[in-house]
Amino acid sequence: MNKILRVNMSKLKAKVSDAPEKYKHMGGRWLTDYIVCDEVDPLCNPIGPNNKVVFAPGIVTGTSAPSSGRLSVGGKSPLTGGIKEANAGTPFSQKLARLGYKAVVVEGQSKEKKYWLLKIDKDGAKFHPADEWVGKGLYEVFPLLFKKYGKDVGISAIGTAGERLLSSAGVCFNDIDNRPSRYAGRGGLGAVLGSKGLKFIVVDDKGAKGVDIVDHDAFKKGTAKLTEALTTHDITKPGGALNKYGTAVLVNIMNEAGGYPTRNFREGRFEGAAATSGEAILDICNERGGVGKTGHSCHPGCIIQCSNVYPRPDGTEHVSCLEYESDWAFGANCGIDDLDTIAELIWLSNDYGIDTIEAGGTIAVAMEAGLADFGDGPKAIELMEEIGKGTPLGHVLGSGAATTGEVFGVVRVPGVKGQNMPAYAPRAVKGIGVVYATSTMGADHTSGYTIAPEILGVGGEVDPLDADKAALARGFQEATAFIDATGYCLFIAFAVLDIPEGWEGTVESCNGVLGTDWTTDDIARIGREILDKELAFNKAAGFTKVHDRLPEFMKYEKLPPHNMVFDVPDEELDKVHGG
Ligand code: SF4
Repeated sequence: MNKILRVNMSKLKAKVSDAPEKYKHMGGRWLTDYIVCDEVDPLCNPIGPNNKVVFAPGIVTGTSAPSSGRLSVGGKSPLTGGIKEANAGTPFSQKLARLGYKAVVVEGQSKEKKYWLLKIDKDGAKFHPADEWVGKGLYEVFPLLFKKYGKDVGISAIGTAGERLLSSAGVCFNDIDNRPSRYAGRGGLGAVLGSKGLKFIVVDDKGAKGVDIVDHDAFKKGTAKLTEALTTHDITKPGGALNKYGTAVLVNIMNEAGGYPTRNFREGRFEGAAATSGEAILDICNERGGVGKTGHSCHPGCIIQCSNVYPRPDGTEHVSCLEYESDWAFGANCGIDDLDTIAELIWLSNDYGIDTIEAGGTIAVAMEAGLADFGDGPKAIELMEEIGKGTPLGHVLGSGAATTGEVFGVVRVPGVKGQNMPAYAPRAVKGIGVVYATSTMGADHTSGYTIAPEILGVGGEVDPLDADKAALARGFQEATAFIDATGYCLFIAFAVLDIPEGWEGTVESCNGVLGTDWTTDDIARIGREILDKELAFNKAAGFTKVHDRLPEFMKYEKLPPHNMVFDVPDEELDKVHGG
């Protein structure tokens, strides 16, 4: 896996070259960061001709390593104005890696207002017109594309939200069953692809020679150690919490902890939590029968299988997947306690090609503004449909929660650096608040999942209400940046934080692929290098320490039931990245 495919949308040319020596050991977020920092002006307009979108499979992606089919998508974010890495689990990534590509770099802009499909296979890459699919929902388009190109290809797409350059637009990928459902969702990179005129990438790995493994013995030993950790830890093992209930197993746990943001972060407990929990999803799958199931996965080779297929009352498919963040974004955060309504809102997001976290946060801010009442599911669906129709109101809503808050004069906008917060209340769980504040990505739980020790007792136990969290937030951000380079799913962290051999196996499997001699001591070093690169880009884009702060209302408004404000001092926040 040592090739780079450079896709010039201005000239409609695609060129394959060997990766420069300095990128040799990089993958995933590590590589997208380096290419973005090396090639993108931090001051460029994110939807102008000088931004780029970089796709990079992780280091072990495309091999038999468990739960490793992740893909990083990077660029300058239209939502935050800073560097962005959004991450998805999809067969697309595995196929790209097996064709030998370390990265695909999309640059320039289509001169006419036209859209293109790029087909990548073992013989190279070719452009095809894509205008016939413009303006259509992704649930209509994906089956047509698979019919045309074969069921074994991988597909990356933007929906109508990306065509309209909305800054909540994500980059969509097929899941294991070829649904348009796996998203590198955050930060608006779908709009950047829309600005370039690249609507689809189709990857066919037929005849691919696969990923080169330098040291098979190290790879085998490493993956065995990691597999052992994943199959024994209570959270990740088959039949364990994630496999049985899906990620929404967290709903009751976060609600019990008083850290489940409700009605646009007004409260930390939701009276409808049980009805929208992972346990309720499993019950509905069992009661309705048909296609509903938990234990589904986003790509082949995942041991954890945390995903699901949510059924309609007649047992036919409504949406896949209904996971914790999306469930919360359209559920508790909007005061909606009906899973069928939540499923429909997620389906609409997938169809339009929009990030569910940002969309749910936006609907909640719109409710705050009085456009709908909290808990009004039908009205929430109407607001989402405005985005789908591309009305002026839809353009505002599709531009994210911060823009919606500004347009409608809302003070309570729970975002950082323009990106809305995910499903953990920072006033009740201070460590995740420190991560939200200091992440290079804007408010992002996947930048450093301190919920593990603060709530779940994984990787130690830490008091969630304690404000002394700089070291915790730094350590988690570094470890996460490393995992995002490997291609492993972040959820391996649950197991490897408790089982040291799992961490060793993670590193050793990378050594096997690359021929390196890293130890677990290199995790923090590589993670730090990745974060420092991102910080440098953001600094050059105009970010300073004052951007590493939570919204003001969280400092004076107490969050029930703990009745706490966010009281982490600014000096503590500034310590995270050493400043
Ligand atoms: S644990 Fe879940 S999100 Fe991660 S790779 Fe497996 S199915 Fe995908």
